[in-house]
This record gives sequence, structure tokens and C-alpha cells, in this order.
Amino acid sequence: MDLNRILREYFGYESFRKGQYELIQGILSGQDVLGIMPTSGGKSLCYQIPALLMEGITLVISPLISLMKDQVDALRESGISATYLNSTLTSQEQRIRLEEIRTGQYKLVYIAPERLNTPDFLNIVMDVSIPFIAIDESHCISQWGHDFRPSYKEIPRFIARLNRRPILGTFTATATEEIIKDIKGILRLNRPLEIVTGFDRPNLYFRVEKGIDKKKYLLNYLKKRSDQSGIIYCATRKEVESLNKELKDKGFFVSMYHGGMGTEERQEAQDTFLYDQSSIMIATNAFGMGIDKSNVRYVIHFNMPKNMEAYYQEAGRAGRDGENSECILLFSPQDVVKQKYLIELNTMHSEREIVAYKNLQILIDYCHTHDCLRKRLLTYFGETTDWVQCGKCSNCLDDREKRDITLEAKKILSCVYRMKESFGVTMVANVLSGSKNKKVFALGLEKLSTYGIMEEYTTKDIQQIILFLVAEGYLTMTEGKYPVVKLTPQSAAVLKGKEEVYKRGEITAMECQEEGTVH
Ligand code: ADP
Ligand code: ZN
Repeated sequence: MDLNRILREYFGYESFRKGQYELIQGILSGQDVLGIMPTSGGKSLCYQIPALLMEGITLVISPLISLMKDQVDALRESGISATYLNSTLTSQEQRIRLEEIRTGQYKLVYIAPERLNTPDFLNIVMDVSIPFIAIDESHCISQWGHDFRPSYKEIPRFIARLNRRPILGTFTATATEEIIKDIKGILRLNRPLEIVTGFDRPNLYFRVEKGIDKKKYLLNYLKKRSDQSGIIYCATRKEVESLNKELKDKGFFVSMYHGGMGTEERQEAQDTFLYDQSSIMIATNAFGMGIDKSNVRYVIHFNMPKNMEAYYQEAGRAGRDGENSECILLFSPQDVVKQKYLIELNTMHSEREIVAYKNLQILIDYCHTHDCLRKRLLTYFGETTDWVQCGKCSNCLDDREKRDITLEAKKILSCVYRMKESFGVTMVANVLSGSKNKKVFALGLEKLSTYGIMEEYTTKDIQQIILFLVAEGYLTMTEGKYPVVKLTPQSAAVLKGKEEVYKRGEITAMECQEEGTVH
């Protein structure tokens, strides 16, 4: 079988992307597969080609109702018979389609998971042959993921009802261990062929901005890019609405999208953006899973999202066409407060809560590290890299001079030690800056020898340095809602004078202090 010919004839592509060929071969040889590829890595092709070549019908289970129609239209245009079943159909349409499925008129049927175990559908599948089921966005089955969908739990029950157990092809862009374990376990994959393609997206440039006026930064940025399209993610619906209004008033072509809007309204906003009638999409994380807009030139996170997976997936919507694009995260301490509030609101039992706080801290570290950002991201996704600097992130390109902050680090580390490693970032910073905060006095912390030893800095500046020390491993934070700062083996090295600490610019008080020494 010449897969390359099929790729050319039906899809018009010259060659397979990483992992595609192997996954297709695996499925065709009757093996379950688990394809882990980054957003826009080309997962759809991995089940579309086997579907074409196999007898009977391939089911594609997808949570993305809004995307089904587009995919089906695209397939039809390539001469592949496909249809979909979801809640957007009238019962009349539904009946006709079911009958067409029964009489074998389709190779591919896209279906929303909630539809699987409906009597009508179960009735039909008893009469047809289903050799292969593709489960797109399969991380939705895991409670550990950021996209957990209860309806995905229906899938195993559905499969158990079929006359013959089909080959299962699972696809996701999420590669964390817990989630992969869930996908394999809950869906009972049979010794699956597991293919993890690289997660690197070489055409994406990563940047983190902190301590800035976000609105000002954003306006400046957008003004320079009026001819390009981009997505701006905000943490809440309210924020989406207010930013939408503000940018509209300033004359930008914007659309907005969040879960509080009606289905039609959302569809319209999405289409307006997809067809380039607006250049900016302002949205909550409700927007974008599966969106195939190729020319998104930038993704700005106006607020820090909840974890690395969510961040990489959302940021990854930039540059699907392979052209250079930017992913910018605007950090403020307020974002941390917001995310913690959301964790509290959304995590019902404590086990998930601890994981959520831990994952949040990893992203906070990403925002404060001086390491290569790309390296941090890839390492998180379990990839090893043989380079130190990517040369395409705001840290690698930061040419501000490195300052020796060993003395400051020592002061902070000894303060953490004196405070018996039992306080959070704010309290440690309060003590060091010599704050008159009531709590400091109530706890008698003003009596510590480290009280006020960094009084030339503001509490906020000290907090920044502490977060930097955490991000670099000189300190660590316990998990939970009120994380406590603790020492690490690396702290000892610094305290004993075996290791020096360097940090780039941006500590305001430090600049003042230096000017001061000139006098
Ligand atoms: P994913 O589902 O992994 O996010 P898609 O399957 O939507 O990604 O593919 C992303 C884009 O890449 C689509 O526009 C698709 O047509 C294109 N694509 C997929 N495979 C290839 C290939 N082998 N060669 C060129 N383009 C491809
Ligand atoms: Zn880099």
C-alpha cells in the first residue's frame, strides 16, 4: 500500500510529518495506538488515512462540536465521504444521517461522546462494521487534565457493547505521565504503539513580561501589528468583556469569546476571526481547542493561565503555518491570586487540589526563571535537549548585564532559616524589608536578626527576588494554598560561599541603590 500516494492524492501533501507514518502503519496492522503530538502536529491525518483504507466505518470521537462540520467539509472536498452526529442537528437530520450510516454511505463518522450510548445510535452500530475508533483529544478522559469531560467516561461502556472490539487510536497534545496512564488505563488500550513526536515548535518565540503596565504594553504591541491576527487570553469572562470594549473603542478589529456567551454568538465570533474579518480574538480558555487558523501571528496571555499544559496548548495556536510567531505571557502577582481562587473553586477533593497548586507553581517558576524558556517548556514535557540556549526566547535574547546578587540571596536564605522555614513569600519579604506590618509584630518576627537587613528594597522587590530564587532552585515552596518557603541543598551551597547567584536587571531598588553610591 503506497501511503505516500494517498497522502498526495487525497490531501495534497508531499511528505508525512514526524510520527504520522508510524501511527498510520500501526493502526493498519491492527495495533492500538497512542499518538502524542503538539498542537497542529497533524493528528487528524493519522486517523483519516487508516479510515480511508479500512473496510467499514471509522468513528471519530471528538469533544469539539464546532469543529466537526469544518473537518467533515474539508474531507468531502478531498473526495472522502464523511459526516457528523452532534447536538446541532435537528431530529429529522439526525434520522436521515443515521440511515445513511446504516447503508454504508460514509467512511468516517464524527461523533460527540454524549451521543455514543443513545438508543438510536446503538441500534445502528449493531448493523455495521466498525473496525477502528479514533479518540481525539483523548486527555479529556483524565480528571488530571485541564480539559476533563465527564462524557468521555462513556467511551469504554460504548466500546464494550460493540460486537467486536475495534482498534483504538488515541490522540492528544498532552504528555504528562498521569494523563497518559489514565488514557491507557481507562480506555484499556491493548499494548499500544506509543509515539511521542517532539514538542518543540521552532517557529515560536517565547517571551515573559513582568512588572509592566499590561494595558500599555498590549496597546503598544497591537498598534505595531494591525495587519496581523492574534489571540489574547484572559483569565475571566469579565476581563474579556472589558478588554474587548476598550480595544473596540480604540478602533481595533476585535472579536470576543467566552463560555458565558450563547452558542450562536460564540460561533459568529469564531467565524469572524477565522475568516479574517477581525484581527484580534479576546477570549477565555473556552476558545481554541482544535481551532485550525493557520495565520495566528501572536498569542498573548494577558493573565497567567493555570499550568504549563494549558499555557503550551494555548500559546501553540500561534504559527500553525510554520511562520515565525510570538507567544507572550504577561505576568503579575495578581494572576497568582486569581488562579489560586479558581483552584479553590474548582477542585472538589484535596488530592486534585494539591496537584493543581503544584502545577501552578511550575508555571510561576517559568515566569521567573532566567533559563531558556523553551528549554523549560520542553523539559516539562519530558523532552531532553542537548542545547543550553535556544536563541529564540526572551531569556536567551536578554542582553542586560547579569548582576551578582549573592549577598541578597544570602540574606534571604538566612532569613528563611531564621523564620524556621515556616512562612510564605510575603512574610519573608516583610521581615527582610523591616515592614511595620501588624502580623510581623504579632508574631515577634521583628526580633529576628534578619529583620530589616534589606530595608533598602521594597517588599515587592524582595518578593521578586525570592520568586527568582525559587525558580532557580535556591529555594523551594511547599505545595498547597499557602505555600511555605523552604531551603534546598543549593541554598546551603550559597550560604557556605560555594556558589554565587546572578540575576539580570529589573530590580528597581537595586538601580536606585547603585545611583546612590555615586554620590
Ligand atoms: P492537530 O490536530 O495535531 O492540532 P491537524 O491535524 O489539525 O493538527 O493539522 C494541523 C495542520 O497541519 C493542518 O492544517 C493540516 O492540514 C496540516 N498537515 C497535517 N499533516 C501534514 C503533512 N504531512 N504535510 C503538510 N501539512 C500537514
Ligand atoms: Zn531560549
